[in-house]
Parts: sequence; C-alpha cells; structure tokens
Amino acid sequence: MSDFKLLINGRLVPGDSTMPVLNPATDQPVAECPRGSEAQINAAVAAAKAAFPAWSRTTVEERRAALLKLAAALEARSDEFAELLTQEQGKPLAEAKGEITFTLMFIRAFAEMDLKPQVIEETANARIEAHRRPLGVVACIIPWNFPVLLAAGKFSPALLAGNTLVIKPAATTPLTTLKLGELFQQFFPAGVVNIVTDANDLGNVLTKHPDVRKVSFTGSTATGKKVMASAADTIKRVTLELGGNDAAIVLGDVDPAKTAPALFGAAFWNCGQVCLAVKRLYVHESIYDQMCEELAKLADASIVGNGMEEGVQIGPLQNRAQFEKVKALLAETKAKGGVIAGGQVPDGAGYFIRPTIVRDVKEGDRIVDEEQFGPILPVIKYSDPEDALNRANASYYGLGGSVWGRDDTQTASLAARMEAGTVWINKHLEIAPNVPFGGAKQSGLGVEFAKQGLEEFTQLQVINASRAA
Ligand code: NAD
Repeated sequence: MSDFKLLINGRLVPGDSTMPVLNPATDQPVAECPRGSEAQINAAVAAAKAAFPAWSRTTVEERRAALLKLAAALEARSDEFAELLTQEQGKPLAEAKGEITFTLMFIRAFAEMDLKPQVIEETANARIEAHRRPLGVVACIIPWNFPVLLAAGKFSPALLAGNTLVIKPAATTPLTTLKLGELFQQFFPAGVVNIVTDANDLGNVLTKHPDVRKVSFTGSTATGKKVMASAADTIKRVTLELGGNDAAIVLGDVDPAKTAPALFGAAFWNCGQVCLAVKRLYVHESIYDQMCEELAKLADASIVGNGMEEGVQIGPLQNRAQFEKVKALLAETKAKGGVIAGGQVPDGAGYFIRPTIVRDVKEGDRIVDEEQFGPILPVIKYSDPEDALNRANASYYGLGGSVWGRDDTQTASLAARMEAGTVWINKHLEIAPNVPFGGAKQSGLGVEFAKQGLEEFTQLQVINASRAA
C-alpha cells in the first residue's frame, strides 16, 4: 500500500493507477505513487467547483487562519518534508530544509495580506469602489525544481483570495505535494484544495477544462505556449512563469576573487536547475582570465553527490530526461573546446554531472543561446559594456538579469536597459514574497508574489453607485 494519496473532494484516495517515483541520486524508486486519471482530474475540478460558493463567502480572516494552521502543521513536520524532498528532487538536504523554511515564509507572508476594496470616488451622491473578487476554480501547475515552494507561491495567494484549487505537481516530484495534501485535508473544507498527479500527460485536461477559470503555470516556455493556446477557448486567466536564459554582466572594475563565489552560487544552486539562475556570464576582457580561473577553482572544489550525505553541495540532475538533455549539450560543448573545469559524468547510478565552466564561447553556440537548466556555465568575453548589453538582450527570454560593478551610475544605466522582469545589481537570484516577480518577453505573462501577484488571483469588480432619486 502506498503512503501517498491524491486529495479529491476532501478525501485521500488512491490513484486509478500507480507509477514509480525515482530518487535521482540512486535511480532507485523512492515510492510507488498514485497516478491520477483523466476522470480523477475531472472529479477534482467538479469538487473544486462545488466547494467554491461556500469558500468564496468565507472572510479573509477565516482563510488567513486556515493558511496559518497549515504553516504551523508543515513546520512541525519540516524535517520529514525536507528529507522526502531531497529523495525525490535530489537537492542537498540543507537546501531542502531551506526550501521548506522559505515555503513557510511565503505562506505566512500571503496569509498576512489583505484585499480591502479601494474607494475610487466618494461624493454626496455617488460612491465608486473597486473590489477584488475570487475567480473560481484555479489550476496550479508546478515544475520539478522547487516543488514545494512554487506550489506555495500559488496556493497561498489563490486561497487567501477565496478561490478553490486543483494542484498538479510534476510527474517526477509529486511526493511532497501529496504529503501536503494530508495537511490541506485537516485545515480546509472538502473540495477547496484538490491534488491530482499525472505522468506528464494530463496538464491539458486542466487547461482546457471549461470549469477552470484560471491557470497559474510554472514550467518551460514551450509548455507555456500550449497552456496559453488551450486557455484561449474559454478566455481563462493565465499567469505564466516560464524559462529564462539570464545574463549577468560583470564590469571590469570588480574584484574577480571576491565576486566569483556569488556568481558561482547563482549559476549552480540546485544543480543549475533554477529558472532565475545565471545562465550566461558576460565578463569584461580586463578581468576575464582571472574570473575564469576563480570560477574553475570553485567548480573543482565542489562536492557533488547524494543530497542525503553530509557536506554535499551539488546534487544530481532531477530526472533522466533532463540528465540526457544536459549530457547532450555537454558533449557538444566539450567537442568545441573551452571546458576548463568539470565536464565529468561520474560512473555509477544517479544523474550526476560535475559543475562545468566553459570559456571562449559566444552567441551561436547552443550553450549560450539555449536555456541549459543544468550545471554548465558559459563565460563570454566582451570589451564594450554596451555591446554586452545588446548581446544579453538578444534573446527571446527575459526572466532575470544582473549587472555587477562599482560605478553606481553605470550599473543603474545598464540595469534599466536590460530586457528582463527582474534585474539585480551586484547580486542575482533573490526572490521574496513581498517582491513581485514576472518575466519579460517569452519568459512569462503576468506576475506572481506580492500584492500584484495576489491580485492576479482575483477579478476586478467596480461597484459604481448613486443615490436613488
Ligand atoms: P514543463 O513545462 O515540462 O512542465 C511543467 C509542468 O507542466 C509539469 O507539471 C508538467 O506535467 C505540466 N505540463 C506538461 N505538459 C502540459 C500541457 N500540455 N499542459 C499543461 N501542463 C503541462 O517544465 P519542467 O521541465 O517541469 O520545468 C523546467 C522549466 O520550467 C524550465 O524551463 C524553467 O526555466 C522553468 N521554470 C520557470 C520558473 C519561473 O518561475 N519562471 C520556475 C521554475 C521553472
């Protein structure tokens, strides 16, 4: 009997079939997991639809209280969740614990938010108010890199706003989400939150379902396009958080030895499987060789291994498909030359690739033009910062970016012209629940987090009233 169950209409139920979930560090099963069917997705949507009228009439205070109870229960079981997360996702245990801590912070931050009506105009005879009403059934579709945190970034605001949900985790990381289902069952009325897994084959059932009012999607740009097309038929609201190919531009006046660790961390965190990771590093020619050397030293010193082992800094790629994709990119990159650290694929089980630094690459190389989503960092030389900016912007992605330098006027000027939803200065890859986050160009549509993200889970309704004659 599986310890893991779907959550449909307030009941923890088995899937109509099962599927193994593999530990990417060992290639061995972590658990046999329930696999939802199309009928179960439809039952989940029906349950969410039925639960909506009552849930949407609860007060914000009641919904806030339920979210805070959920956070407290998750906190009490955080070690168990972190260990399960490492086993299904691969990240080192310390990072898994960090993801749970960050998740708690997100749930609690959204629980504290408010949706008070705004008075637009008030006179003796008229009053115009803007209200934020819940939408109805929201589908939350989650990728495999931060399964718990990215789910919380959706369910917390969606529930606070009064919506009911169907959450669909990624096929290779469903287990922690199913464990969350046990907590949702305790603190939320039946049907308000439903969790159904798939084998990467049922997302479109949700996105085309006529009773789903909004799709909150995080994943690749290719799938995001399908989501948007499928939502068109019923004019569903969509929020799309998609892929990125973030450029970091490092100016010639920084100290390479002092800056390299922050850049390395921003490129290789979670084995490079972060939407907002540094994926292209543009370094001024005056410090290029030194920066390459510093990064290579850090790569060589990294401890790669099973995330459950003490001291491991970088785990495996999350799943076999991604492992094969990154290995192919690595083989192509190695064949062209320029790999100065890493590049090894250790023998044995598990989807491991050592952190790889590649120099003397340029646009036109696949490792520069495409999102690698793995532990390979291309370091690109430039001589004119304006040229680096143009090259950084010459991408259909526009998720994040960063500028590193000592001259505040110059960094601010370059940052303002970077075509990205978030641009950092002298840092990269920092998100917070009170800071809105969204992609430019083909990296996304709409925003998540903060008040703006909360409002995306609502329908704006204007009440424009006069006194009766
Ligand atoms: P993916 O697009 O393959 O899958 C994401 C989710 O979509 C999964 O739950 C999957 O089952 C589901 N899905 C698959 N086909 C679907 C369809 N036709 N309709 C609806 N849903 C469908 O992405 P992935 O490989 O899981 O994640 C990696 C990608 O996600 C990277 O490109 C990364 O940059 C991006 N990402 C973006 C953010 C962000 O916030 N912008 C965050 C994390 C990951």
